[in-house]
Amino acid sequence: MGIRSFAAELLLPASLQARRDKPPSQASVGATGQPAAATFASLSALLGYLGKADHKKILEAYRFADEAHLGQYRASGEPYITHPLAVASLVAEWRLDAQAVMAALMHDAMEDCGITKPELIERFGAPTAELVDGLTKLDKLQFSTREEGQAESFRKMLLAMARDVRVILIKLADRLHNMRTVAAMAPPKRVRIARETLDIYAPIAHRLGLNLIYRELQELSFEHLHPWRHAALTKAVARARGTRRDIVERVRLDVERAYASAKLKVQVSGREKTVFSIYRKMREKHAGFAQVSDIFGFRILAPSLLECYGALGVLHQLYKPVPGRFKDYIAIPKPNGYQSLHTTLVSPLGTAVEFQVRTETMHAVADSGIAAHWLYKHIPSATAVPRMRPSAWVRCG
Ligand code: MN
Repeated sequence: MGIRSFAAELLLPASLQARRDKPPSQASVGATGQPAAATFASLSALLGYLGKADHKKILEAYRFADEAHLGQYRASGEPYITHPLAVASLVAEWRLDAQAVMAALMHDAMEDCGITKPELIERFGAPTAELVDGLTKLDKLQFSTREEGQAESFRKMLLAMARDVRVILIKLADRLHNMRTVAAMAPPKRVRIARETLDIYAPIAHRLGLNLIYRELQELSFEHLHPWRHAALTKAVARARGTRRDIVERVRLDVERAYASAKLKVQVSGREKTVFSIYRKMREKHAGFAQVSDIFGFRILAPSLLECYGALGVLHQLYKPVPGRFKDYIAIPKPNGYQSLHTTLVSPLGTAVEFQVRTETMHAVADSGIAAHWLYKHIPSATAVPRMRPSAWVRCG
């Protein structure tokens, strides 16, 4: 690293210098709708929540990883460092600490580049080295069987091995970026990774309450495992969206009017199920698309816990609830911390419509689970996920 000056390195990281020798054709994808490759500048822009000293350490970790991966390329043809950068960016979006961002940058360096743990301890300190080491060990686990029981014990082993919850979060960010870019892989490998994601990593994301990631992992896996079914269902949903627009609008207006006259200040928003969850329901019920009626729903955000129950009462006064469909996940949260009131109502045109009622805090936890604890400082870890120790999650599932 000695030859290049500080400024020159900032402007021209090693990966970009290496890229100059390659045709730029595949560098930033774009055409497939993929986001442009991550750069240090794009990561840096996300670090506003950290102090100056942390920025410096993260820049150091980036230089180290950049050097280590120099000359390596992704299947897409991009310099390898774009991958650790993208993973670190996801970790920074969750506002994890500097150690976690640094570990994300270096998560593939030990495995791929012959860097040792003592070397990492020396340069970056034991806590960060421990995270990188944990990630490297997880990488060596290979899951090959499709048996359901096997998948469960593999997930347990993975969670037990991780010890530090940050390791699991970085691992999920790693898998998410790999799935977002999996189209560049050859078909057999692509299918293997998608299968493994659906069997192992999506359920782990779900257990930790990381629902946004859980849904994206499922959706991407489905798309690559069953491209034709995925395309057909996506089309069917788009068509249904068109034909049901009037019903949905009518329900929204009724609901908003009811809340206005009850003087309840709530936010009403539409909610659409993922293509994968519709597919799963069709398979479970051996039903065609036309029989899966509740593909649209609404979400109500209420200012306080008590007002959630008030908001539910307004809904039940407005339309008849479907018996047996009401669930109080506020009083009895799901093991992953999820809280909401669920109910299904019969709309004036006879269609069933699902409603979820919750507060803003419950909503943050519903989307991000354990990551909500870092994302929103006011949310205590015990609310985000009932138990923080991995050995405990294994038991609570
Ligand atoms: Mn990786």
